[in-house]
Amino acid sequence: MQIKSAEFVMSNSDVAKCPKNRLPEYAFIGRSNVGKSSLINMLTGRKSLAKTSGKPGKTQLINHFLINKNWFLVDLPGYGYAKVSKSAKKTFQKFITQYFSLREQLVSAFVLVDIRHDPQPIDLEFMQWLGENNIPFSIVFTKADKLKPKAIENHIEDYKTILLETWEDMPNYFITSSSKDIGKDAVLSYIDELNGN
Ligand code: GDP
Repeated sequence: MQIKSAEFVMSNSDVAKCPKNRLPEYAFIGRSNVGKSSLINMLTGRKSLAKTSGKPGKTQLINHFLINKNWFLVDLPGYGYAKVSKSAKKTFQKFITQYFSLREQLVSAFVLVDIRHDPQPIDLEFMQWLGENNIPFSIVFTKADKLKPKAIENHIEDYKTILLETWEDMPNYFITSSSKDIGKDAVLSYIDELNGN
């Protein structure tokens, strides 16, 4: 898929205020600093559509971007940032839960995890919650340029081992690097396919 246009539409913390039309949407979520903004910028070919920042935990809103005038890319807040207060965490959980539970036009989520780390409880718990709530998701491994192919393979195997303890299949997954422009076509083709093209 060629990205011909990518426009910021709105930011809010209330799912009821998200765009009312029924365009298919794809939500990107992961731990703060996982490389989500960089990935969104790589996918859309825009240098600063999503803000990349050295300050984890800053974007605490649901951000809608309209792509090619026919689908939404949704940038959700990063989770698991230690310095966010308890009440901020609760608010976050509430609106993220509402987003996933109520947003009928959500086709699939993309859960980003940093390929360098062993599977982390917070990511596994989130995937578990998505699975239990029948919310389709793929895993996007980020920062693949930081590891050698063998190490990448090993980390993916670790995920498989853990996830297959609970689920019959390993979710669809993508290996990406925003600095080396890896994985863009695979993710965009997948979205294109889900959009029925
Ligand atoms: P976000 O908080 O999840 O939106 O993460 P950002 O996109 O702001 O990236 C967090 C940090 O990781 C920044 O310092 C980025 O330069 C770095 N980063 C993001 N993607 C990559 C990648 O693919 N490779 C490498 N080496 N660094 C990356």
